[in-house]
Amino acid sequence: MKYKHILFDLDRTLWDFQANSFQTFQEMFEHFELEKRCNVDFDGFYLKYKEINAVLWDMYRQGTLSKELLYVRRFSITLEYFGLKDTADLSRRLGDFYVLEGPKKTALLPGAKELLDSLKRKGYPLYIVSNGFKEVQSLKVKTSGIDMFFDKVFLSEDIGYQKPNRKIFDEVLRQLEAQPCDCVMIGDDFAVDIVGAKNAGIDQVYFNPNGVKASFEPTYEVQSLMQIDALL
Ligand SMILES: [Mg+2]
Repeated sequence: MKYKHILFDLDRTLWDFQANSFQTFQEMFEHFELEKRCNVDFDGFYLKYKEINAVLWDMYRQGTLSKELLYVRRFSITLEYFGLKDTADLSRRLGDFYVLEGPKKTALLPGAKELLDSLKRKGYPLYIVSNGFKEVQSLKVKTSGIDMFFDKVFLSEDIGYQKPNRKIFDEVLRQLEAQPCDCVMIGDDFAVDIVGAKNAGIDQVYFNPNGVKASFEPTYEVQSLMQIDALL
C-alpha cells in the first residue's frame, strides 16, 4: 500500500451538504413562516443566504469573524436583506434550528459508503479532517452511519487552525506519528483541502464532480468517489 493513513474531508466529500442543507432549509422556511415574513419564495431566500454565508465563511476561515458572529449574522444579514428589522432574536432561533436539525440529515454522496467500506477492507486507517463546527461534525458522521469507518475525527476547532493552514495538517501528522508521504488527503474544496495538503507535503485526491478548473495539478483528480478505490 502506497499510503499508511487516509484523510477525508467531510462536507461535500462524503456528507451530502447540498442535499442535507437544502432539506433543513425547507423545514426551517416552513417552520418559521419565512415566506410570509420575508415576502420571498424559498428559492430566492435560499440563494441569497448561500451568497451571504459563503462570504462570512471566508471571513471566519481567515480569522476576521468569530464563530459566534458567523452563527447569527448569516441569518440576520439575509433577513435584513429582505427588509426585516430587529432580527437578533429570530436570527438566533434560525441559527439554533439549523445547527440542531442539519446534522440529523443523513444523505451521503454517491459511492461514499462503498468507498469507505472498500478502503476499510483493504486495511487502511481512515480519518476525517474538517473545518466544520464542533457541535455538528461528529453528529453528522454518526447519524449518517459512517462513524464506524473512522479511527478519529480531527476538527479545526480542536486543533486551533483551519484548512488550508498547514499547521492543522502538521498537527494531524504529529498525532498519527506519520510523515507527510505516509498520508493522502481526499477533498472537494481545492483552495482548502488540496492547497492545504500540498503545502504540508501531503499527496492529494481532488474530488471534483463538477469539473472546476484547478490552479495546479493535484496528485490525483476524480469525478466520482468510487474512482478513488482504484487509486488506493
Ligand atoms: Mg468539503
